[in-house]
Amino acid sequence: MTVRPNDLDAFWMPFTDNRAFKRDPRFLARAKDMHYFTPDGTAVLDGTSGLWCSNAGHCRDAIVAAIRAEAANLDFAPTFNVGHPRAFELATRLAGLFPEGMDRVFYANSGSEAVDSALKIALAYHRARGEGTRTKLIGRQRAYHGVGFGGLSVGGIPGNRRAFPQLPGVDHLSHTLNIETCAYSRGHPVWGAHLADELEGIVALHGAENIAAVIVEPMSGSTGVIVPPRGYLERLREITRRHGILLIFDEVITAFGRLGAASAAERFGVIPDLITVAKGLTNAAVPMGAVIASNAVYNAILDNSGPGIELFHGYTYSAHPLAVAASLASLDVYEKESLFARAAALESYWEEAVHALKGRPHIIDIRNIGLVAGIELAPRPGKPGERAMAVFHHCFDHGLLIRVTGDIVALSPPLIISRAQIDEIMEKLAAALAAVP
Ligand code: PLP
Repeated sequence: MTVRPNDLDAFWMPFTDNRAFKRDPRFLARAKDMHYFTPDGTAVLDGTSGLWCSNAGHCRDAIVAAIRAEAANLDFAPTFNVGHPRAFELATRLAGLFPEGMDRVFYANSGSEAVDSALKIALAYHRARGEGTRTKLIGRQRAYHGVGFGGLSVGGIPGNRRAFPQLPGVDHLSHTLNIETCAYSRGHPVWGAHLADELEGIVALHGAENIAAVIVEPMSGSTGVIVPPRGYLERLREITRRHGILLIFDEVITAFGRLGAASAAERFGVIPDLITVAKGLTNAAVPMGAVIASNAVYNAILDNSGPGIELFHGYTYSAHPLAVAASLASLDVYEKESLFARAAALESYWEEAVHALKGRPHIIDIRNIGLVAGIELAPRPGKPGERAMAVFHHCFDHGLLIRVTGDIVALSPPLIISRAQIDEIMEKLAAALAAVP
């Protein structure tokens, strides 16, 4: 073994400009509730729940205790052909949280795995029902569904897709962001429901008998907060149902209170066939993802398969005991502190606070829903993303963690945030916008 100095070279950082970071690094060493702390102890207010995931804030005592206890009790147990009781308990709790009739839970370890699992379940569903020609998957431009080959293919971020081969038989709907028409919308934009009708064109092109599923984020987070136009998701639901196409909501960001309800499906009153979750599922304390499936999808696969395994799919760490413990404890915290209702109650204060930034330098749009906001900046000529990254650095250096994607600042604080902390986020962001050319 070679002893090496602890330099920054060995860690190949994900979705990061490694060279830039290693020239000018910033570290998070500790976290509690609404704050991160740098190695020298400086507090950094978390305006982004880590990465849209620590919905109850950081290092919550009950969640820490549950993980600790389970690490000493059941460090690992396989879930192929045996089970551990709390995995079933968690699935039952989740079934109660998601819309009626969506009572079956398939465990994965991340959002990406949840998405790829959901796409495979959709294919398995049609095959089980004797409609095995239904193999095409429809995603949407600007969508982010993680980095597996399935999620990558239905996703719509050119930079993520360009360098990799894609699944065959994938098509995409248009995205629904239209700043020219809808800048500074509060909540749902009023324009854009008609874009769901594009699905009719895609059906006409490929044939409904060849299409397995449509997958969308009910609110796109990672590509810069795209709120669904009023009526859009309802229309997508109607068209998919009419053509026997499954509708998958990727709720990796939107579930567990982010929009003031357990799920976007609940908030928007649109019930898909499959929902993917991760992030807030465990308050991000231990990695976990899951697919919440309708009983109809589950029953079709079980009822129509021969003897033996019904779905040839699963992960060593499906329902890992530490993740299950973290999730059960997170659900307890969400429930005891009524955090989903808290987010709903804070939404109008949040909306006012973020829209009060209108007129600050560089801003060309502000959009919001739930405890989420997207603040779009004019890019520097010929240097997309550079201005927002400068804002990110300024905020961090002044005690605020934000998320930037392209030239969009995305805010999604823990649901425990106070009004004073909402004001602090906006003040620090305004100062950064003023300081950054
Ligand atoms: N789906 C959506 C909607 C996401 O926002 C993300 C991550 O941000 C993913 C999938 C991928 O999740 P993970 O990074 O846990 O694989």
